[in-house]
Amino acid sequence: MAYSLDPRTKRLGIMGGTFDPIHNGHLVAASEVAHRFNLDQVLFVPTGQPWQKEQHNVTDAEHRYLMTVIATAADARFEVSRVDIERPGPTFTVDTLKDLRLQFGAELELFFITGADALSKILTWRDHEAVVEMAHLIGVTRPGHNLQNPGLPSEAITLMEIPALAISSTDVRARVAKSEPIRYIVPDGVSFYIKKHRLYLDADKNPDPQSAGIL
Ligand code: NAP
Repeated sequence: MAYSLDPRTKRLGIMGGTFDPIHNGHLVAASEVAHRFNLDQVLFVPTGQPWQKEQHNVTDAEHRYLMTVIATAADARFEVSRVDIERPGPTFTVDTLKDLRLQFGAELELFFITGADALSKILTWRDHEAVVEMAHLIGVTRPGHNLQNPGLPSEAITLMEIPALAISSTDVRARVAKSEPIRYIVPDGVSFYIKKHRLYLDADKNPDPQSAGIL
């Protein structure tokens, strides 16, 4: 699906994540960062094939992309990019930023937003020096998390605690598998999408997805 950036956009947030699934904490975080950094737009970029990730089988990229589109549809500041899911191979942020620069031009000021946990490993990321040159980095995290600069110059990175990030995608998946409600934790459209496509069900515990009770 094509998306358009408002031509007046000068300061662009890039919200990178697996979004498996996207939840209200992600939306609040993007909104808070947009406010604090006076961003014109925030582009959500679901990962393609996440590297360094063997904890769980990541849901098909099309499902994650469509849930992100549904979740962001009503906010004029938010758009979703397919740039990472259409690039073959593992997702590296340096490629994300290069592709978006090619697409939107070099004059845009970029702010790469993601979970502070993910950002804490940035020194192991491919070509992380180029990542730091291309974008200001913003690590968002849940309350109580110890916020630490992973070793970058202080002007390159901002760490922000976002109370709404008490929600996590892991919790949402576990709730669905246990037939617990996810209403008010994810947007209603995402909840309906999860139910329709029978995502995150533990087949043993929920033989009948219609009775999963996720709404
Ligand atoms: P992850 O390991 O799945 O997530 C780590 C933590 O950060 C989780 O608590 C997660 O919570 C949170 N998180 C992730 N994205 C978030 C976001 N946008 N806003 C708020 N919290 C977020 O991280 P990941 O999704 O694989 O990677 C995050 C981003 O870093 C992606 O854009 C990825 O491409 C990039 N990355 C790049 C490299 C590289 O270039 N070598 C390596 C690793 C990651 P939730 O599960 O609730 O989201």
